[in-house]
Amino acid sequence: MNAQQSYKLSNRLYHMDNSVIQVGDKAIGGEELAVIAGPCSVESEDQILELAKKVKEYGAGFLRGGAFKPGTSPYRFGGMRLEGLELLKLAREETGLPIVTEIMSVDMIERFAEDVDIIQVGARNMKNFKLLRELGRIRKPILLKRGLSSTIDELLMSAEYIMSEGNRSVILCERGIRTFETYTSNTLDISAVLAIKKLSHLPVIVDPSHAAGLWWMVAPLAKAAVAVGADGIMIEVHNDPVCAKCDGQQSIKPERFMALMEDVAEIKRFLRIGGD
Ligand code: PEP
Ligand code: MN
Repeated sequence: MNAQQSYKLSNRLYHMDNSVIQVGDKAIGGEELAVIAGPCSVESEDQILELAKKVKEYGAGFLRGGAFKPGTSPYRFGGMRLEGLELLKLAREETGLPIVTEIMSVDMIERFAEDVDIIQVGARNMKNFKLLRELGRIRKPILLKRGLSSTIDELLMSAEYIMSEGNRSVILCERGIRTFETYTSNTLDISAVLAIKKLSHLPVIVDPSHAAGLWWMVAPLAKAAVAVGADGIMIEVHNDPVCAKCDGQQSIKPERFMALMEDVAEIKRFLRIGGD
């Protein structure tokens, strides 16, 4: 069996039209570009509320923020965990923005299914097949990030794990892959957007923050992602990147996010992408 045949539910061969994933009154994969923005991790009530209000004001449609953080090092900030989740809910209440946050273990699924609008599976868990299968049994949109060293086929196969259990609401995310290049954290595979959209009907978003790992590359790469036809972008934004508990070096300040959103609006106009 070749790779083309081993994923079925995510395959464009069997589902020609783009899938549109409904998240409350918003949709990902349709006309409108999805913009997910917020800090790498939730750090305090003041931090997440301030950022949520700012990114909303500047045009984000979704709020991101890690409550449970995976770390390559065990000494890295692990997140505020359930307290962080509560703060995200508070930020949603205050702004109306749906919340996107990462799940790390099966035992949190019930809680996340209740509290979270889009459940993120991080790059490090893209091949946690037990987690994927269990997420397939709930009815919440899943944002599945590409593994650090995973091929496009493997990403689609992981999506298949979720979909084959019944949950068809999967959004894929290109977030850079490991190559021989060390200047950037990862190499943003912009062509993956095109390849995935050819192979699959699922929406694809791009996370330039984790791809580049350098704040000054984030806005230009985000614009490239929109230009190439991504269904959305996910951007790390922090009000005080130097003091951020994680990923400050790749976080942009709210003002820069605002400027990015203005440029994105221009690109959308030029490309005649709907939305606003
Ligand atoms: C994140 O989005 O905060 C994150 C940890 O990303 P990734 O899983 O892509 O490294
Ligand atoms: Mn991060």
